[in-house]
Amino acid sequence: MKITFKFLSFTVFSLAAFMACSSDDSTSQDDDEAVTELHAAFAAFNSDATTIYLDGSNVVIETTGLPNHESVYWGVGNALYRDEPTVQVTPSIMSSNNNATTITVDATPNLSGSTVATQLNTIGIAVSGASIFNDQEGGGALDQAAGSLDWTGAHIGPGVYHYHLEPKAFTDDDENLVGILLDGVFLYGRKCNSTGTYPTDLDASGGHTTTTQYTIGDEEYHYHIINELYSNTGSYIAFAGPYQGY
Ligand SMILES: [Zn+2]
Ligand SMILES: [Zn+2]
Repeated sequence: MKITFKFLSFTVFSLAAFMACSSDDSTSQDDDEAVTELHAAFAAFNSDATTIYLDGSNVVIETTGLPNHESVYWGVGNALYRDEPTVQVTPSIMSSNNNATTITVDATPNLSGSTVATQLNTIGIAVSGASIFNDQEGGGALDQAAGSLDWTGAHIGPGVYHYHLEPKAFTDDDENLVGILLDGVFLYGRKCNSTGTYPTDLDASGGHTTTTQYTIGDEEYHYHIINELYSNTGSYIAFAGPYQGY
């Protein structure tokens, strides 16, 4: 089934390239997302932080990295500061830290290649505008740094403010969009819009191909936060990889 889907996607894309004026999209699923308009899911991103646009067959996401939710990392006095006395905060606060990032992803993820491991640093941009990181901290296990994670599974440093865990500020045991990863595949919460509950057919990356709330009935490959508690954090890893869309 997977090979068939990939072949169909490639065929549809090729047809779309040669038949740009075709108005019949009743049976295809990729006509609208190739290169002519942004995927509908990008409308969910924080427009105060992000600038998102097409560049050929790529999507560019520029972000200030400043999220539209509370955190202890905003620092005392900021309107979005949240007092989190149990968090072992790192020295940096949002206003004195450079959180800006730009990523460029394929508008149409290539699902036919080999999987690719995630790396340290930004692995995606969340709908809040802040970065998503994997399950490592400075080359070691994340649980060693878990004490510095705020209420929404994020911290600063070194580098940009970033989420390691399920970002409860905008997805908490639900089907909400989390963000887009570097391979161009969208990441959703622990539940799937196609069934309203936890998916049972996920691959090793937490991915599967179903409809989502942003695909108007079409099936599309996407990731979920895998519904397994991580170590001593009492929460869920946002994304550990590997990427399937490179
Ligand atoms: Zn980190
Ligand atoms: Zn799903």
